[in-house]
Amino acid sequence: VNFGDQLVTPEEKTRKVGAVFTSVARRYDLMNDLMSGGMHRLWKDRFVRRVKPRSGEQILDMAGGTGDIAFRMAAKGALVTVSDINPDMLGVGQQRAEKRGIDNLLWQVENAETLSFADASFDAYTIAFGIRNVTDIPAALREAHRVLRRGGRIFVLEFSTSDWPGFGEAYELYASKVIPRVGEAVAGDRDSYQYLVESIRRFPRPERFREMIGEAGFVRAAVEPLLGGLVCIWSGWKI
Ligand code: SAM
Repeated sequence: VNFGDQLVTPEEKTRKVGAVFTSVARRYDLMNDLMSGGMHRLWKDRFVRRVKPRSGEQILDMAGGTGDIAFRMAAKGALVTVSDINPDMLGVGQQRAEKRGIDNLLWQVENAETLSFADASFDAYTIAFGIRNVTDIPAALREAHRVLRRGGRIFVLEFSTSDWPGFGEAYELYASKVIPRVGEAVAGDRDSYQYLVESIRRFPRPERFREMIGEAGFVRAAVEPLLGGLVCIWSGWKI
């Protein structure tokens, strides 16, 4: 499998992705603001508006990292379990939750490919900027399907490919030249940000990922492109 532009074993990839997020955890939130010019906040707001979390709903926020999506959903009264493969990211998230006085979240280390939850445990499953880091993406989608109840929904927020003329190229230039340098300057870690850029480049196009959601057993799979598809919100239903 690919880790950035290197070929590695699946186990190595999972380990290396772990190292990336351990390295960036402390500066993760600041870097998101810097690299996206604050836009990730708008994308996340939009994403959660799509999810429409309701009071009392059980939601699994997979690859939940430092809690950005979970905090927004908990604010609407949902009962959110934040899961991530990386305890350092979850640790930063728990500190942020404490500071904000949010105490109704569950935090649990999990690999998206092999969840410990029982079948039909959740009303909704969200994964934001996480799925592209997972080594076996079809396995993660099948697990999402398994842990959702009938009538449950999956929502994925991820970078993909823009079809706006010139925009994709401009972004590509920005991503390959600027992001690793900012990563070096602010987080002292050029390689991790180089990997993050490469992983975006390798992620399937919007329509192909929509098909993959269907292949995992979801119905009415749909995609909403933002910025021509540079960022997309996919969704699907379990029936
Ligand atoms: N959802 C958060 C957000 O939007 O700010 C965090 C996104 S962060 C870019 C990606 C997260 O995916 C990291 O916290 C990383 O540890 C997690 N991750 C990577 N591979 C994973 C896996 N196999 N299972 C669960 N989480 C994983």
